Amino acid sequence: MATPNIALSQLTTGSTYNETFNREIVGRVKTFQASYPSKKIYMMAWGDTSQPLPPIVVRALIDEATKLGNFNTYTGYEDINGNPELRKAICHKYYQQKLSIEFDSSEIFVSDGAQSSSANLQELFGLDNSVALQNPTYPSFVEGNLLAGRSQFIELHCDEQNNFVPPPPKQKVDLIYLCFPNNPTGAVATKEQLKGFVDYARSHQAVIIFDAVYSWFVNTPNIPRSIYEIEGAKECAIEINSFSKISSFTGLRLGWSVVPHTLTIKNTTFGELNQMWSIRNSIKFWGASNLAQQGGIAVLSAQGQKECQQNIDYYLTNTRLLRQALSNQAFNCFGGTDNPYIWLKALGTMTSWQFFEKLLQEMGIVGIPGCLFGKSGEGYLRLSSLVTKEVIQAVVSNLS
Ligand code: PLP
Repeated sequence: MATPNIALSQLTTGSTYNETFNREIVGRVKTFQASYPSKKIYMMAWGDTSQPLPPIVVRALIDEATKLGNFNTYTGYEDINGNPELRKAICHKYYQQKLSIEFDSSEIFVSDGAQSSSANLQELFGLDNSVALQNPTYPSFVEGNLLAGRSQFIELHCDEQNNFVPPPPKQKVDLIYLCFPNNPTGAVATKEQLKGFVDYARSHQAVIIFDAVYSWFVNTPNIPRSIYEIEGAKECAIEINSFSKISSFTGLRLGWSVVPHTLTIKNTTFGELNQMWSIRNSIKFWGASNLAQQGGIAVLSAQGQKECQQNIDYYLTNTRLLRQALSNQAFNCFGGTDNPYIWLKALGTMTSWQFFEKLLQEMGIVGIPGCLFGKSGEGYLRLSSLVTKEVIQAVVSNLS
């Protein structure tokens, strides 16, 4: 008799982030719209991008599609760990040229986006490993571990006192998830703060899983874009990145992870974890789409980076204008400098959901209640500036 996967069946009660989002946020907005059909709604909850693909990417996709449709240039299965040209471009054009960090392309694993990597990388580690997570946190770090059967977490509380950057854990932990620039709080960590985590990980033989999806939004000098800007991180950290937010690949799906050869843990030797991730991919993942990978190569070209920067600047301008308008109205805002998210404090003693309702009812603004990202997110709301400038202009003008 077949029985269900208990970890998965425990997640089927409508409690996952995605289900709550669809049921509660989308549901409440629909109810509001049905009652007030003439009221404008400004959907600033999604972390989805609004700007189209950069022109150089569109050309690369058309070229690749043409090749795929031609007998002489057709390609099928390719290297499961990524197109060699793309892996090289990530090493040279991103890590080496932008950040002065050296990797061999065999340390880069191309993925179908950061979502799967952020939930799956825990498969490299034993089920008895203890896991520390920022609270509030990006939900798939939690849900990936729950699905694997780990249900106890050490919480690293992020609050106004620590500027939403927690100190390393006090107790011994094995895996630490960090995300900077952070989703949802918009916080960034300094080199010194990240060094604290790297030193902790090295002295406790722990591993950091570092989500750097928003690294391209960093514009404040000296704020690290990669955990590998910290000395010693190649011995204790895995990094996740994505093409989603830099180049509007949320639908195309493309990202990467770095598993350095020098990352070793108990009972492993040089390169073994890297090899294990490759084996895992050969079982569970046969590579990202050829089409998306050609798009990724175009993104990393000099012209591609220029075009992507225009999109990033567009979103950063959105964020600055929104933050300014909210601050002028005495809202308490965090984040939104090196990141497209504003972490807005609820008014008075309101809960996240009460604040959500107030913004929806009075201004038509839809954000995500902070409590959906963990209990330390209670009393806050996340607004995304990845929307169009027209939405921002309308919200700003309604605020003033
Ligand atoms: N990690 C973080 C912190 C995110 O905010 C997101 C998307 O919003 C992802 C990962 C997933 O990105 P992708 O579209 O590459 O799967």
